[in-house]
Parts: sequence; structure tokens; C-alpha cells
Amino acid sequence: MKPVLDIRDLGIAFGGLKAVDQVSFQAQRHKITTVIGPNGAGKSTLFNLISGALKPHHGQVLIDGVDMTGAAPERTKAAGLSRSFQITSLFPELTVAENLRLAAQVLEPTGRAFLPVGRSTRALAKTGQMLERFQLAHKRDDLAGNLSHGDQRRLEIAVCLASEPKILLLDEPTQGMSHGDTAETARLVRSLTDDVTILLIEHDIGLVMDLSDHVVVMHQGRKLAEGPPDLVRADPAVQAAYFGH
Ligand code: ADP
Ligand code: MG
Repeated sequence: MKPVLDIRDLGIAFGGLKAVDQVSFQAQRHKITTVIGPNGAGKSTLFNLISGALKPHHGQVLIDGVDMTGAAPERTKAAGLSRSFQITSLFPELTVAENLRLAAQVLEPTGRAFLPVGRSTRALAKTGQMLERFQLAHKRDDLAGNLSHGDQRRLEIAVCLASEPKILLLDEPTQGMSHGDTAETARLVRSLTDDVTILLIEHDIGLVMDLSDHVVVMHQGRKLAEGPPDLVRADPAVQAAYFGH
């Protein structure tokens, strides 16, 4: 099947540092592809190159077969890409429901996008759906800034999903979460593959093994290995560079 995301020979350098160097891989539709690697390996930079936050010096990014290399974040978003950040990007002074409704506003037909938020029906329906699915209905009127860390991170995923993207980029969605919150988030992420293709950055190796269909290992900007989670974990080069310390 045609990959929904096709990364070809991607690279960028900051001064002399090759943060991402000759990285190629593909993400298959409705699968979870996880990027792992030690701190500073280039994972977040890779996401920035894919989303258009940074322009690559080399290589290509294809979304659904369309060349989106160097396209601005608005354009990759319009092409169906949505990303969460390592640091939360919610509006803390807005309620849970308002954060969702703002994100879902893009579903309104052109020309209706700027109607008063309360009157936009598709966005409103999507907001209700997301509140249910993410078990946030009872917190719909809470300010996002007042939610627990776990609830904020889950709301952020819901916000990313509210625009009905094809591809969801999640950068360490369980970072700083309790054990229970991590497990619940993992279940949630797994349930999303019916709707989207997921590209995930995750540190918790147990979670990586459980969740991933395909794993890409990065080390010092380069792709060290890729494959099914168990094979990648057994790879001697991966053992040495990543699990060995
Ligand atoms: P990871 O997410 O795998 O921890 P990053 O992609 O954040 O790694 O960083 C990869 C390398 O690139 C690191 O050495 C980091 O210091 C460097 N880097 C990242 N962003 C920038 C930037 N905007 N300017 C300069 N160096 C950067
Ligand atoms: Mg990072």
C-alpha cells in the first residue's frame, strides 16, 4: 500500500551539527510508527521537519504521495498533518470544550469558519464526540490550565484529533505522567489508529514495545535501525547505542 508518510533522505544541520542526517522511512496507514533514540538524537527536529516548522536542507517529505517538502505548518496541516508538542500548546484560559471547539472549527465549510463559535454545528458535534471519547465530558467547563497534567496531555491529543487529520504526530505524549495515566493514554493512542496514522516519539520502552507496529531508531541524527519492535530491540547495534547504557 502507498505509505501515508514518506520521508526520503531528510537532513538539517544547525551550524556544524547534523541534527537530522539522511533519514528515510515510511509510515503505513492506520499503523503506529514510533521513533526512539537517546536525548539529542534528533527526534523532535525530525518532527519539526515533517510538520514544516523547520525547512530541511536535504531530502523530501511526501504526505499521501504529495511532495510537501519545506511547506509551512499551515499547509502541512491542510494536507492532513496534526502534531502535539513536547510542551503543551493548549489555551490555559479557555475551557476544555472551548479548546476543542477552536480546533474543530476547521471542519466548517469555507465561509462559515468565522461564524460565532457557538453556532458552528460540525465543530460543535466534533467537540461533543471528543469529550466523550477522551472521557473529558464531566470537565468540559473546566479551564484547561486547571486540569491535571495527565488530563492536559490527553486534551492536547483530543485537540490534535478534532480537526480530523490523516496523520497524528505525538511527541512524548506520556512525558511526566503517572503510571496509571500512562497506561490509559497508551490505550487511547492505540484506539486512534482506526481514524489516523500515528507517528510517535516515546521514551518508555515498555510502551514502545506494546504500542508500535514499526520502530525507527535514531542515534546522533542518523537512522540506526528500523523494523518490528521485537526485532529492533534485539538488534546488536541498537542494544549498544540505546539499551546498552
Ligand atoms: P531529541 O528530540 O531526540 O531529544 P532534538 O531533535 O531536540 O533531539 O535535538 C537534536 C540535536 O539538535 C540536539 O543536539 C539539539 O541540541 C540540536 N538542536 C535542536 N534544535 C536546535 C536549534 N533550533 N538550533 C540549534 N540546535 C538545535
Ligand atoms: Mg525531543
